[in-house]
Amino acid sequence: MDDFSFLKARLHGLGLRLTPQREAVWRYFAGVDRGRALSEAAGALAAESTSPATVYRAVKTLSSLGLLRPRAGEDGEVRYVAVRPGHVHLLRCTGCDRAVEFHECGLDVLEKLVEAKSGFSVQGHHLELYGRCPDCAPFDKISQ
Ligand SMILES: [Zn+2]
Ligand SMILES: [Zn+2]
Repeated sequence: MDDFSFLKARLHGLGLRLTPQREAVWRYFAGVDRGRALSEAAGALAAESTSPATVYRAVKTLSSLGLLRPRAGEDGEVRYVAVRPGHVHLLRCTGCDRAVEFHECGLDVLEKLVEAKSGFSVQGHHLELYGRCPDCAPFDKISQ
């Protein structure tokens, strides 16, 4: 069973409810292991009678909560990846849009250094790594 309690709680923080449409949008992005564009989500969710405008709004809302992370691909199209709350970072393939989560980042050392130098009290960070996945990397070598 999927647990949507974090989704409910985050939306509640914005004064919003977890509607079936918002849940469907989350399930769509969380159900694939790679980034998906707005148009792809709208096409897939049309079968669940969710209008493109509703999908776009839900994606905006979930992005503002940090639960969907956008990234513009080499073709200029922005694709989104679902990320559960917590200390999660993404590794994204610029070839096939595959996204892999990782949790270790070692940035606590850097945070302390930056704090000491700047006088800021650092509360968190965003980190996203991108490059070629094992399937796409060999293809680069052939095409060179
Ligand atoms: Zn790839
Ligand atoms: Zn980190």
